Amino acid sequence: MTDVCGRTIDYLRLSVTDLCSYRCRYCMPEDGVVKRPHGEILSVEECVEIGRAAVDCGVRKIRLTGGEPLVRRGILDICRGLRSIPELEELCLTTNGQLLPRMAAPLREAGVDRLNISLDTLRPDRFAYITRRGSLAEALEGIAAAEAAGFTGLKLDTVLIGGFNDDEIGDFIDLTRHHPWSVRFIELMPMGECAGWDKGCFLPNRAVLDACPELVPAEPEGVARRFRIPGAPGSVGLISPMSHEFCAQCRRIRVTADGRLKGCLHSREELPLRGLHGEALRSAIRQGIARKPIRHHLTERPSDTPRNMNQIGG
Ligand code: SAM
Ligand code: SF4
Repeated sequence: MTDVCGRTIDYLRLSVTDLCSYRCRYCMPEDGVVKRPHGEILSVEECVEIGRAAVDCGVRKIRLTGGEPLVRRGILDICRGLRSIPELEELCLTTNGQLLPRMAAPLREAGVDRLNISLDTLRPDRFAYITRRGSLAEALEGIAAAEAAGFTGLKLDTVLIGGFNDDEIGDFIDLTRHHPWSVRFIELMPMGECAGWDKGCFLPNRAVLDACPELVPAEPEGVARRFRIPGAPGSVGLISPMSHEFCAQCRRIRVTADGRLKGCLHSREELPLRGLHGEALRSAIRQGIARKPIRHHLTERPSDTPRNMNQIGG
């Protein structure tokens, strides 16, 4: 289905929980979030029903996210349910990787096609600092487990934070010389926990190209501009919502863990889907697509959404 600006909307990011095992400083408050009663969060059946209805409205790719999707009870049932939708072309999941050592193989068996693993630093002390409770060793074990389970084309997502990890750009790019991974740098977006952070933290992705003149352009992928080191097995992606607005190419809608459809990550507008079934559900999704905002306003002001990223699903 196309929206009012003629954008084809075929990608749903479905958040299955707002809980997480980490407390990344830019994403979640130190004390985490209050665990909500079971009934306030989409059930396994509702996740699959919404996925099915979205596919009926033209969605062909679903990404499960959160919070941390792997802490969600029933995550494998959600994956199996979505995978059984014949027209769904791609089922992906974004994770901090911590639980992959035991979950990678079951996820593969449940039909997940691709994984994105978030990794903001390659230094153990910095990893512990930014996540407030994770360890680099377990994240690296998670990546190894994903490969052992047969996931190919792994994407490693790194939020670039000035004064924190910008001196590691070269180390991340070096990973692509030895592994067939796509290392993607994401510009930090001013929302929730980091909305008021110092300006110096918000680095344009140009810093990546400046740090590595060896990079040459490659085929773009979704909203990511891509580059590679000539001859390297991996690639480098730049996701630049701040400096290189990609709203005109945006093909996605989002559903929060409490069942509200968002046309844009940064908009306040939300459309409740819970309690809707069949044609009423499909019609609400179509309405959400039709009302998708033309663009965000991050270059003029912080995000309009009052939610933290873990509550929407990054
Ligand atoms: N817990 C999973 C993970 O970390 O991959 C999935 C959810 S997390 C919200 C999804 C992605 O959003 C992560 O790569 C995270 O680094 C990114 N993210 C969170 N807050 C962000 C912000 N303010 N700006 C840019 N990316 C952000
Ligand atoms: Fe959790 Fe992911 Fe947010 Fe970090 S970025 S706190 S891992 S949801």
